[in-house]
Amino acid sequence: MTKGSAQYIPSPNVVALRESATIAASVRARALRATGREILDLGAGELDFETPAQVRQAAEEAIERGATRYTATEGIAQLREAIAARANTIYRGAEPIQASDIVVSTGSKQALFNACYVLFGAGDEVLIPTPAWTSYSEMVALARATPVAVRGNATRALKVNAESLAAAATDRTRAVMLNSPTNPTGAVYDRAELSAILELAAEREWWVISDEIYRRLVYEGEAPSILDVARSRERLVVVDGVAKAYAMTGWRIGWAIAPPAVARVMGALQSHTTSNAAAPSQHAALAALTMGDVIAPALDAMLKDLRARRDACLSLLRDAPVVEFIEPRGAFYIFIKVGDGEAFAEKLLNEDGVAVVPGSAFGTPEYVRLSFAAPMDTVVEGMARLIRALRDSAPERDRPV
Ligand code: GLU
Repeated sequence: MTKGSAQYIPSPNVVALRESATIAASVRARALRATGREILDLGAGELDFETPAQVRQAAEEAIERGATRYTATEGIAQLREAIAARANTIYRGAEPIQASDIVVSTGSKQALFNACYVLFGAGDEVLIPTPAWTSYSEMVALARATPVAVRGNATRALKVNAESLAAAATDRTRAVMLNSPTNPTGAVYDRAELSAILELAAEREWWVISDEIYRRLVYEGEAPSILDVARSRERLVVVDGVAKAYAMTGWRIGWAIAPPAVARVMGALQSHTTSNAAAPSQHAALAALTMGDVIAPALDAMLKDLRARRDACLSLLRDAPVVEFIEPRGAFYIFIKVGDGEAFAEKLLNEDGVAVVPGSAFGTPEYVRLSFAAPMDTVVEGMARLIRALRDSAPERDRPV
């Protein structure tokens, strides 16, 4: 073997690691575009809106004032206080949330990873309501625990419930990962559903990790937080961030609200991995959380656009009678049953120039996920092409007329 070309043998930490399929879908769409092909990118889980101007301005001012250095690993005090204050407006249980219970991270993705890494280990099983965002199972596995997919019920928008979780549990079950509104279905758990799951978790002494990154993007009724119904935070970690609610994906600011002992260890972990999240981004997030009325018009306009796009998709889908899909109440995805999701997504990209994410990324290979976080004409054209492709691939007898 020549020098410098030693064979790489992946460490046991990463032998089973797969690249993020959601990220890969966006990268692929962008690469194809760069070759000059017209691609309608409905794969990316990223809003096409600009971060509100006042938030950008606040970050610039913070840089001018010197926010260019390390901060506390867990985040700047004002941001942690603002997160705690907001969470305490809905949490009515024991032990109000303190700023010290919060660890600000480089995106909610890091917050979720931190939580998995400090809570789980070899031999533990973690229940993952499925379909589920692609990274949960990888994060659990990176912590050497075993992800256990619990398939949601088709009659309940592919949501799980306390009974289905209980049926999948063993004496090794250590936690359940919740996500509402759900990526990739847009399904929303109501208060009764969350309470029943919390009750089961308390009874079995499981941890609950609740990923609430899409909570502000809701089109019908409310999307309750687990904090709306929890009466104790003893085994509860709530993860949120600014990426989806404020069109701030690139700023990479997320956080976890955890019991004090867990928050301490998450901070320690982060002190060895990345230290603080980027200082200017933390100031931008602080502005987003505290500017209230100033940025409300921008946020309302985004939600209005998203609702219009969702409604346009739904009306196209309803006119295509054989198509099975989940009607999203939140987030910005539509989950559509297509048969072989991988083959369908590949064909749709190559032949119709539309990028979507195959359902296998979410543990449900018979679906694809279409993101409507793109301009209206792109969404409508992409959805029309998808429906056409689906119709063309259906056996003759099932074809809509
Ligand atoms: N969460 C978004 C998605 O599901 C962004 C990409 C990622 O981080 O997975 O597409």
